[in-house]
Amino acid sequence: MNRWPIGVFASIDEGLGVDLDVAHDLGVTTVHLHAPSQGSRTPEAAQVVAERLRSFGLEVTAVFAGFEGESYADIPAVKQTVGLVPQATRQMRLAELKRVIDFTALLDVDAAGLHIGFIPHDTSDPEYLALIETTREACDYASQKGIHIHLETGQEPADELLDFLKTVDRPNLFVNFDPANMILYGCGEPIPALKQIAPYVRSIHCKDASWSDLPGETWGEETTLGKGAVDFGEFLKTLDEIGYTGPLTIEREISTNPERQRAEIGGAVALLNQLKQSLSERRGAPS
Ligand code: MG
Repeated sequence: MNRWPIGVFASIDEGLGVDLDVAHDLGVTTVHLHAPSQGSRTPEAAQVVAERLRSFGLEVTAVFAGFEGESYADIPAVKQTVGLVPQATRQMRLAELKRVIDFTALLDVDAAGLHIGFIPHDTSDPEYLALIETTREACDYASQKGIHIHLETGQEPADELLDFLKTVDRPNLFVNFDPANMILYGCGEPIPALKQIAPYVRSIHCKDASWSDLPGETWGEETTLGKGAVDFGEFLKTLDEIGYTGPLTIEREISTNPERQRAEIGGAVALLNQLKQSLSERRGAPS
């Protein structure tokens, strides 16, 4: 794979990504795939998906799990409903995550991602310890299949996430760094966070956002890539410095307006290609 192939978040029958044919039309070569519904995860269905991907010239670089009952309506809803944090659904969701890991293996992809939820701040909280154990179980299950687990960033500041990763202490546990999430959740400036978490960054999302007036209490706002508070020139420069060579995967969650979504992602592809180009010119090296 060339350095920094452009990718896009895509969906089959679940999630807010673009359809595979749209990904193809946008001229990208890689996708992060939202895990399809259970009925579409059989070995036969996985073969059909793999064939479609081949026909479109697309490589899945990570499969992302989402869970029934999750709400991103506002920050309190995320705290209560998202990921492996809510105690009442933890075991059920761990089982679901294992099924998504199975599907990831069927597609011959080596990374499964998820929002784990709001990690408790108090590291002596029994819920924190329970979450550590659950994450270890997911990592160990994935490890048997040669799969890495990528946690989405943003729901906690970089130092807290770093503490969590170190405490879980599993060699296949990594991060999907999403700079916009740091801003949306009010969890700190993305570029310093990227530097801090660098050894764990194994995939990224190219998404942009503006800060809330009340960071951490109310949402910031997701924006068109290049129009928000993420400095993508600096972001790419920092990715270069930390030695990240994987895909630049565009995420734009406005599938209620597919035409606008497609146009905006098209604009993001162009902007990222332009930034890649100017960075490689500055380095005096081919891209
Ligand atoms: Mg993301």
